[in-house]
Amino acid sequence: MSALRVARGATGRDKILKFEGCYHGHADSLLVKAGSGLAGESAADSAGVPAQIADLTLVTQLDDEAGYLETLKRHGREIAAVIIEPMPANYGLLLQRPEFLRTVVEEARKVGALVIFDEVISGFRAAWGGMVERSGLRPDLVTYGKIIGGGLAVGAYAGRGDLMDQVSPAGRVYQAGTLSANPLAMRTGLATLQKLRSGVHTLLESRTADFTARLSVILKPLELTVSSLASVFWIHPVSARAPRSLRDLPSGMAERYQGLFHALLNKNVYLAPSAFEVGFISLAHTPEVLNEALQKIEEAVRELR
Ligand SMILES: *Cc1c(COP(=O)(O)O)cnc(C)c1O
Repeated sequence: MSALRVARGATGRDKILKFEGCYHGHADSLLVKAGSGLAGESAADSAGVPAQIADLTLVTQLDDEAGYLETLKRHGREIAAVIIEPMPANYGLLLQRPEFLRTVVEEARKVGALVIFDEVISGFRAAWGGMVERSGLRPDLVTYGKIIGGGLAVGAYAGRGDLMDQVSPAGRVYQAGTLSANPLAMRTGLATLQKLRSGVHTLLESRTADFTARLSVILKPLELTVSSLASVFWIHPVSARAPRSLRDLPSGMAERYQGLFHALLNKNVYLAPSAFEVGFISLAHTPEVLNEALQKIEEAVRELR
């Protein structure tokens, strides 16, 4: 919400471009073709969002250069910012081709639109430097949340110096809130980041790779498999290649996932309750914990067959 305000303030343009299935929080402009709690809903838009606000949000498909370029050609000069989850993780885990992400960034620049990487999930998780570090791309603004609060309520954005200079009190883009820079949340976030800085990403990543490799073997009889990046994983139906956009998702996914979810819950293994939600391996998931989970998943698969 605040990053969009900066982008609009800096460019003097009103429209934004987002990708179907990407979720960017509960602000009005962004509840259009979103994921997360709206994933799998036929009516993706929330009630209470004025049509005039929704009309400023253009939507295109992930993994589709042609559609993206066409939208830029038509509306490029009106677009303040292109916003994307560089690791889309709110409609399953839709890992993007590096060339697609590069095109998103480079072509936006050509029409004078800013690029916002929404790293609320991937920030400090995909790597210490998030997807910015992993992709080597340089967006104009980056948003953070979740990890940076260590479980408390924080959102943050960062960006190019000249853009951040536009934020009040230095500039004319308003930024404030009762809970802004809340001391308790800041202290918790700082403690979390200090822990993360000590090189735990490599450990988490190898633990996740081991877990997901074994998990996909176990899930094979149900024709399910696992995609993962860093410490994030997602269980989905076997297909020729890992899904990259909503168009790659087979129908009936939710129903197929439900059986597995409930069988596991009965064994005290609590996966995300939606087929479109990803899982996260954390430092609390020791090899012992993960082994026990895999054992129970194996039992559940046997029962389900
Ligand atoms: C959770 C999330 C947000 C933030 O959502 P709010 O609940 O509105 O703060 C933004 N972007 C992504 C990618 C998220 O996963």
